[in-house]
Amino acid sequence: MNTTKPSRSALPERESADPNGAALEPARLVIRLDAIVENFRKVCALASPAAAAAVVKADAYGCGMKEVATSLASAGKCESFFVARHSEGMALRPVLPQARIYVLDGAPADAVPALIAYRLTPVLNSLAEVAAWNAAAAEGGLELDAAIHVDTGMNRLGMPPAELALLSAEWRKRLSSLRVVLVMSHLACADDPKSAMNRIQLERFRTALALLPPAPASLSSSGGVLLGREFAFDLVRPGLALYGGNPQPDNPNPFGMVVRLTSRVLQLRFVDKGESVGYAASFRALRPTTIATLALGYADGLMRALANRGWVFVLGQRAPIVGRVSMDLMTVDVTDIDGVKVGTEAELLGDLVSLEDLAQAAGTASYEILTSLSRRAERQYLGAGA
Ligand SMILES: *Cc1c(COP(=O)(O)O)cnc(C)c1O
Repeated sequence: MNTTKPSRSALPERESADPNGAALEPARLVIRLDAIVENFRKVCALASPAAAAAVVKADAYGCGMKEVATSLASAGKCESFFVARHSEGMALRPVLPQARIYVLDGAPADAVPALIAYRLTPVLNSLAEVAAWNAAAAEGGLELDAAIHVDTGMNRLGMPPAELALLSAEWRKRLSSLRVVLVMSHLACADDPKSAMNRIQLERFRTALALLPPAPASLSSSGGVLLGREFAFDLVRPGLALYGGNPQPDNPNPFGMVVRLTSRVLQLRFVDKGESVGYAASFRALRPTTIATLALGYADGLMRALANRGWVFVLGQRAPIVGRVSMDLMTVDVTDIDGVKVGTEAELLGDLVSLEDLAQAAGTASYEILTSLSRRAERQYLGAGA
């Protein structure tokens, strides 16, 4: 160990203490609710005259479903929301007593009572679900709202062509007690505007719409919003764009940054040439190296795959991640950065490190970066209803 530089044991320099003690937590996740609302408005402008719903599944892509949905409903005047799970819809209902809440998981028979009790609108994915939901409506003497999901090439959820043909032939009977408020499908390749799949699915969707009773239609998630108005129909369903991700990563991102993840230097280490850093000694210093150990690890949502690949920003300069990312800690090379001290802030994600940068370094997608953000870092919500 090279000890020519003085060891730093001074107390970290922190911002003035937070009243609830949050300043003790070195890792911080700032979520800009005003930026989410701004991104929603941008989607509305791009899709107009189509309306926009907000996809808030998976805890609003890690950003906090309650906070995000409240801001979008009040500041953004958003009236409809999509979740994946029934439990998500049940949690959202008390937050938004009036909003339309679609549940993508649909209406399996055992979910019907909860769907009715929480006034959730199922996205019906099969004839079996149509039958269960229609029977529930008929038995209860109710007219229930439903969305119908037709599969135009994703081959994941939604009615395949054979089921659509049966529904088309007998829709008066099969939908007798239902009010179809939306017919939707989902694009497989909307992140790539050059993909031939986009137009193939557009044509299949138009064909499907002609087979069903007239109803508002929805095809596009975030990527589709950028494919042009032809793809917007009556309602678009963005998720990623609202949270600042780039729906078409080969083009510049039209949406504004929402999440900023920072942590602080817990300790500095002066490592001799030839010494290793971290578990499995996966990094070996090729020169005398200054290592900053940051209070942030994979338990905070930074993938282990970033070992010796990603980088962070310290004092406005790029510091490569060296060695493994461990559960609570990671190590970065700050040899070339002057003035780094215990307590200095590092940005892992935000203004200088985009979701796409981080995703690329980790070999994943910006979606997974967002949904991996953990609850351990101190959360701070800014703007719009925070
Ligand atoms: C998740 C999801 C969306 C939102 O997709 P983004 O790419 O995040 O905009 C829209 N529709 C369906 C069916 C989904 O599953």
